[in-house]
Amino acid sequence: MPKCNICDGPAEYQIKGTNNYYCKKCAKELFNDTKLLLKVEQEAKKLQKFIDEQVL
Ligand SMILES: [Zn+2]
Repeated sequence: MPKCNICDGPAEYQIKGTNNYYCKKCAKELFNDTKLLLKVEQEAKKLQKFIDEQVL
């Protein structure tokens, strides 16, 4: 799992199009909400789906 850029904790969110990762707490402090952020988990699932499709 990626690490938070600020506190080094487990990151749940990524800024779209960047390699900046943040945990939920830091993301909320920085951005007030998490609308601009992608859930890391969702991206990982998308990637896994893509890989699965390539194999099939
Ligand atoms: Zn953090």
